[in-house]
Amino acid sequence: MSELRFDNQTVVVTGAGGGLGKAYALFFASRGANVVVNDLGSSHNGQGNSSKAADVVVSEIKAAGGKAVANYDSVEKGDAIIDTAIKNFGRIDILINNAGILRDISFKNMKDQDWDLINTVHTYGAYKCARAAWPHFRKQKYGRIINTASAAGLFGNFGQTNYSAAKLGQVGFTETLAKEGAKYNIIANVIAPIAASRMTATIMPPEVLENLKPEWVVPLVAYLVHSSNTTETGGIFEVGGGHVAKLRWERAKGALLKADASLTPGAIARKWNEVNDFSEPSYPTGPADFITLLEDGVKLPSAQP
Ligand code: NAD
Repeated sequence: MSELRFDNQTVVVTGAGGGLGKAYALFFASRGANVVVNDLGSSHNGQGNSSKAADVVVSEIKAAGGKAVANYDSVEKGDAIIDTAIKNFGRIDILINNAGILRDISFKNMKDQDWDLINTVHTYGAYKCARAAWPHFRKQKYGRIINTASAAGLFGNFGQTNYSAAKLGQVGFTETLAKEGAKYNIIANVIAPIAASRMTATIMPPEVLENLKPEWVVPLVAYLVHSSNTTETGGIFEVGGGHVAKLRWERAKGALLKADASLTPGAIARKWNEVNDFSEPSYPTGPADFITLLEDGVKLPSAQP
């Protein structure tokens, strides 16, 4: 198979001044893409700003013969970021929503400011960038989006209620973008990466981090946003340290009780094993699946208590 290239395409990478974003930016530029290197240059918990982070990456790309331009806006200003792509390169093909910060704190001590800042950067920021790219994607009938979730969002993690809520939000956001974009050849996938960066530098030992280079997240992302991927959309992928795996929702066989006055808390309790029975799972992919399940279930004699 020949090398997957991105010539004549424009990629916007948010938070590309360091960590995973920098690795994406360097890679796409090395494969022929024009890259918008967006980074606010804030601290890991969202304080301050500086143009240095993005500038360093742009210089590195240019020194290697690639094409890149810096943008220093916060992702809250998605319009300005996408405008940078249009003004400099005339188009936008790929959006990597990657920028992120942490405000870890136990839920007991969570302040509105910690909650709001995390949701502003991750949820509102990803929305604003995708919203600004969307009309271009629809018009050209081509677009590729990667959103960035986290294991903390998928599974929960102590001290990260704000981050977990925002990160699982990226999953629902992506699922709906994938559905709305399908008609326009807009493909959206979401990753839960794990990589050594300043975000993980203080929470994992150096010997573990050594095996978690950001560069090892890049190939999956590149594969998903390449024009040769025309079918994989709405996927949720865990990726890091050389491991790549898809995740999905699994629904237990469940209990179907008669929807009348006999549907009491006690009736639920008596069916608790069935509610938790994963021996015959199903894999729902949309709200309509539940209605089908009810319709099918109502017809089954075994569904009657
Ligand atoms: P990082 O801190 O190295 O990089 C994040 C970058 O985003 C920084 O350069 C920062 O300046 C930039 N940024 C922050 N707020 C911004 C804003 N408002 N506008 C523009 N840029 C902004 O972290 P990373 O580990 O490379 O994380 C990248 C993404 O991956 C984040 O969304 C993070 O939540 C997610 N993630 C990372 C890991 C991991 O193991 N590293 C795990 C799960 C999820």
